[in-house]
Amino acid sequence: MNVARYIAAGMTLWLAAGAIAPDLDAVWQGILANPPAREHTEARQEALKALDERLMQPDSERAQDVIAYYHRAVNRALDVLESERPAKGIRLFQLYSSSVIVQTPETVFAIDLDQGPHDNRSRAGAEDGAEFGLTPEHIARLARLVDIAFHTHEHDDHIDYEITKALCENGKIVVVTASNKERCQDEPWAGKLVVLEQTLAQPHTVGVLTVDVLHDYQWDNEEHTSGTPCNAYLITTPGGISVLSKGDINCGLRLYGWLQILAANGRHVDLITGSPGFWRGVNTAREIDALFSPVWAIGHVWEFTHRAAGKPGGATGTYTANLLMTRHLIQKGAPIVLSWGEDIVLEPDRQPGQAADRSKRIRTQTGRRLIRN
Ligand SMILES: [Zn+2]
Ligand SMILES: [Zn+2]
Repeated sequence: MNVARYIAAGMTLWLAAGAIAPDLDAVWQGILANPPAREHTEARQEALKALDERLMQPDSERAQDVIAYYHRAVNRALDVLESERPAKGIRLFQLYSSSVIVQTPETVFAIDLDQGPHDNRSRAGAEDGAEFGLTPEHIARLARLVDIAFHTHEHDDHIDYEITKALCENGKIVVVTASNKERCQDEPWAGKLVVLEQTLAQPHTVGVLTVDVLHDYQWDNEEHTSGTPCNAYLITTPGGISVLSKGDINCGLRLYGWLQILAANGRHVDLITGSPGFWRGVNTAREIDALFSPVWAIGHVWEFTHRAAGKPGGATGTYTANLLMTRHLIQKGAPIVLSWGEDIVLEPDRQPGQAADRSKRIRTQTGRRLIRN
């Protein structure tokens, strides 16, 4: 055993004994007292940092206090979803990593709905307790609550077998890529999966939503000769709020060209969820920000499958580091980060018939402008 492993093992023992573990009950209270908002306060920063510090401990995703925290967070989101709807605008909920739910006055849709880390190590980690994932009750509640699920691509951190099966069996709409549908072809419910053609001028109607689709890739190499098909979705609610997710599209050239054409056709983007990163190609985050001034709800954070066993640190980055890293790119829009189970209400800030002024499109629940100009 090398020194780092020895220390990590010692830490795990300490954590198991509760000796130095930050009390996650206190962390949870801190998060609840400082909910996400356009203005990133010192108190909010401290609350997120406290959660980050616990998660940074090696193998935290296998620890019972972290799993209990995650379950508590998921329960909170489901409780809010079941008990209230926004009168107008949308309410965004963050679940695990890239998994989000959007509630409107009319419907509930999800993007990249997922349970937790799909990793044998994580799943098998809880020999004597709960696993980091959703319980069958959570999945049943999701299958009741969610009307439409959009999945950007087939990677395990962006779609989940059990949730997809439950949604299909409950008659809900599940939108996937063609290759993702093909991978599920042996399942009795695979025929219910919906594949949408790419759009430019005329969007699809899916339930009460209007949906534009770009067919792109998560490239495996710099040459862009192999990759996984990955869709971007621009989803517009009946109230006129538009949510974009690019999933793991990791070169921004096609995406930016497509968004330029959509903008010329009168579309806009109010909220972007998921990863703002482009890691095998051209980074167009700054250009997208300048084009639409959206709220960026930074996702793909704390994806534990990107962290090796026994290693400390932030997997795909901590909440606080992700916020810090994107701030120089996001100048016109508003970067925010939601931790597990948190939500934020975004309201339209536009008079009917008024020309779109993207510098002031979205308001927070409290009526403060989310977007600085
Ligand atoms: Zn991913
Ligand atoms: Zn991926």
